[in-house]
Amino acid sequence: MGEPERIGIYGGTFDPIHIGHLAIAEEARVALGLSRVMVVPAARQPLKGAEGAPAEHRLAMARLACADNPAFVVDDLELRRPPPSYTIDTLRALAARLGPTAELYFVLGADAARDLPRWRSADAILALARIAVVGRPGTTLHLPSLAAALPAAVGRVTLLPGPHLDISSTELRRRIAENRPVRYLVPEPVRAYIAAHGLYRHASAS
Ligand code: ATP
Ligand code: MG
Repeated sequence: MGEPERIGIYGGTFDPIHIGHLAIAEEARVALGLSRVMVVPAARQPLKGAEGAPAEHRLAMARLACADNPAFVVDDLELRRPPPSYTIDTLRALAARLGPTAELYFVLGADAARDLPRWRSADAILALARIAVVGRPGTTLHLPSLAAALPAAVGRVTLLPGPHLDISSTELRRRIAENRPVRYLVPEPVRAYIAAHGLYRHASAS
């Protein structure tokens, strides 16, 4: 029956989704031969404070951003559950839905990977999915330190250099609140959506 299907799972707050997110998802897709990448906006990041835009807007922007890549599929399963979202619950649900022939790769940036040992059921996460860590400016991930803190990571983590785009949603929210441009930092339909809905015009806590 041929090779198992490799599927990427890429979670985040995506508040808003930006070209850094899209570029690392594409990097993982190509480097790992993923047939698709499921983009999963979080209801609320357990290690993060209050969110900026409501979930429905973050979901709509993710859909707009992914519309021109047939391999990117936005899934709202975390938004259909009461918050907070835990990756282990998401992986269990997706593993059950996709069946035993799917090989899951959980994609995350180097900053998020450093937190991995503190995530709920980190061992179970690593049993269900391999992890693809993509480099991010400002963070160096030391694989031996991660393995020391989380022995289940040994042999299950792939490091990908990525395009190293120094861009974050925090910076985008700040730019919008300061009336500075975000054109070319987010896909054009996302820029238009943010403008049409007046999102992020007032500085929030983060
Ligand atoms: P915020 O500033 O609100 O935290 P963010 O830009 O970090 O936003 P998240 O939604 O927190 O975006 O990130 C989702 C995932 O994408 C995380 O795994 C994060 O490490 C990764 N990521 C986000 N931006 C980049 C980037 N520029 N390069 C590499 N990885 C990134
Ligand atoms: Mg972040």
